[in-house]
Amino acid sequence: MSDRPRLDDTLRPPRELEAAWQAQPDIVKLGNSVLRKVAKPVRRCTKETQQLVQRMTAIMRAANGLGLAAPQIGVSERVFIYDAGEGDGVQVLINPVIQNRKGEQIDPPEGCLSIPGLEGVVPRAMEIRVKSFDERGRPVSKRVSGLEARIIQHELDHLDGVLFIDRADPETLVWRLDDDAPDNEALRE
Ligand SMILES: [Zn+2]
Repeated sequence: MSDRPRLDDTLRPPRELEAAWQAQPDIVKLGNSVLRKVAKPVRRCTKETQQLVQRMTAIMRAANGLGLAAPQIGVSERVFIYDAGEGDGVQVLINPVIQNRKGEQIDPPEGCLSIPGLEGVVPRAMEIRVKSFDERGRPVSKRVSGLEARIIQHELDHLDGVLFIDRADPETLVWRLDDDAPDNEALRE
């Protein structure tokens, strides 16, 4: 991964997707350096942390996304949220650490709210254990698999300045011109 040239400066959306890149102005797009920074740990969960989480939740919902990391709204802190759609609502992970990775999964293809319209196949661990804190500073530890594990790995990468295009099989990267089409299976995160 590290010896691959970064696509940040060369990857540009096709004309058909320019409007999609202008939409959701609260979400920073590929090319913005905040997406490449290693985000800082949260030292204390405060009212500001809770407000950040609320703002992120509203932005993720408006963008119809499955997950959103703080750097994606220009805040370089180790916070992300997701909703895997399994009825548990929005999950908040602060200073998350993945402790255990097992197995591998390939599907479904991933997309990113910071690179609208692009999708690609990214190998991820099938099962992980993640330790973190919630927005009130309470420790959370859970073992997750499948889609939820995939989302967490994608979002945690954002906190380390890593994007799915760094991990995707380059042959599989493709622009979906109809990014909002209902049959689009790629994850928006
Ligand atoms: Zn993303």
